[in-house]
Amino acid sequence: MRRRRRFLRGGSPYPPRKGALPRAAQWVRRPTAQGLAAAVVLLGAGAALLAAGAATGARGEAPKPQPAKVKTQAKPGGPEVVARPEPLRDLGRRHKVRLVYFVPKDRRPADRWAEKIPVLMTFVNDLYARDLRAKGYPAAGMDFEFQDGRPLVHLVAGKDAAAEYSGEPNFEPQRQWRRILPEVEAALGRAAENLYVVFAETYADGPAKFEWPGGMALGARFSASGGVGMFSAWILRDEFCATTVEGQLRLLADDTPISGRTALHRLKPDSPRFEFIEDGFGAVAHELGHAFGLPHDRRADDVEIMGNGFRHLRNNYLATPGPKAGFMADTARMLRWSRFLADDVDLADAQPPVARITHPAKLKVGATTILLGGEITDDNALGAIQFFSPRHDWVLGGMDLAGREVRLSHVVVVPPLEKGPLELVISIIDRGGNIGIVRAKMEVE
Ligand SMILES: [Zn+2]
Repeated sequence: MRRRRRFLRGGSPYPPRKGALPRAAQWVRRPTAQGLAAAVVLLGAGAALLAAGAATGARGEAPKPQPAKVKTQAKPGGPEVVARPEPLRDLGRRHKVRLVYFVPKDRRPADRWAEKIPVLMTFVNDLYARDLRAKGYPAAGMDFEFQDGRPLVHLVAGKDAAAEYSGEPNFEPQRQWRRILPEVEAALGRAAENLYVVFAETYADGPAKFEWPGGMALGARFSASGGVGMFSAWILRDEFCATTVEGQLRLLADDTPISGRTALHRLKPDSPRFEFIEDGFGAVAHELGHAFGLPHDRRADDVEIMGNGFRHLRNNYLATPGPKAGFMADTARMLRWSRFLADDVDLADAQPPVARITHPAKLKVGATTILLGGEITDDNALGAIQFFSPRHDWVLGGMDLAGREVRLSHVVVVPPLEKGPLELVISIIDRGGNIGIVRAKMEVE
C-alpha cells in the first residue's frame, strides 16, 4: 500500500467541487517495485479559452468500408470469439456521447479515421452496456450522434502545430488538455453541456519508454450533462485499429511483436499487438469513466475498469485465459444513474443531493472501521452513494439509496489505517444523474 501511495501526485482523481475547475485524472502505469502506480494530475487553474479560428465542426467523410488487411500471427483456429460487441445504435436520447478527432494544423488525419473511431467506441460502449446489464440494470449503453446512418465523428482542426499542444520535446499531458479542450469547446460547445471523447493527433515519432512520445490519457466530469475523456490518437494507427468489428477482433487475437514499441501493460519491449489495443481501447473506457464521475478503484485491480482491469479487455471477447474487464458493484451502481447510460434517468432533476455527514475527527492507527452518520436529501429521488479513499485509490463501499431523505448510519471498512491525514470522498448520485460530493477529513494518530 505504502509503495503505491508514493506515486500519487496532485490529489484525488475525483470530480471537482462546485465552482472549481474540473480536474483531469490521468492514468499512467509506471514501472515500480510493484510494477504499477497511479499518476494523478491536478490541472492548474486558469485554462483560458483560446479563440479557435481554425477550429471547425466539420464532419468526417466516411469512405466505403473495406475488409481490414491484417498480417496475423494468430494460429489457425486460434483464439475463438466468445462475444461480439453490439453495434452502436441511435437511441434518440438527449444526452449523447460526442466523438471528436482533433488534428493539429501540421498533421494529417489517420487513414479512415471516420470508420476506426466508431469501431473503437463499439468496444468501449459494449464494455459498459454488457457489464451493467449483467448486473441487472436496465442500462442500454451510450447513445451517439448519427449522420446518414453512421456514427458521427467531428473533425476539429487545431489552429496550432502538434508541438504547441504536446509541448514537444517536453511532453506534458495536462498542457494538451488545457490547449485542446478550449478549441473543442469553441467548435462544438461547452464541456459542461457535452460529453466528449477526444482523440488527439498530437503524439510524436521517436523513442518512448512506452507507446509513443506525447501520448496521454485524461478524463474529468464537468457536470451531470458533460465531461471529457481524451486519448492519444496513436491508437488509430492501422496496426491497432480496424475499420470493422470483425477486423478488430482479428487484431485483438494477434500477438505479433510491434518492433521498437512497448505497451504500458507489461512494459516488455516489442510488445505484442493486442497489448497496445487493450491499453488504448481500455484507456478510453477508463477515461470515459472519469468523465462519468468515477474515481479509481484499485481493490480488484486486474478486473475493475477504473483500476487496471481495462488492460485485459480481450478476454471479454476472445477465448483467451485471464481476467475479464468490468466494474465492481460499487462503481456500477453510480453508473446506473448516468444520463449517458440509462433511459430512465429524470432529466427534469437539476439539483444534486445535499448531505450533512458526521464522522470522527480522529482515528486510531490500525483502525479498520469508520462510522459515518448524518442525513442525505434530494429534491426528487436519491440513487446511490459511494465512499472513496484517495489515499488508498480505492472505493471503500457504497449502497443504493431511495426516496428523498435517508438517515445515514454506516460503517465503512478500511484497510488497517496508517498515521496521517485521511480523507473520504463521499459521492451521492440522484436519479437525475446529479452528483453531490462531501469530503470528510480525519486524522489518524
Ligand atoms: Zn484514471
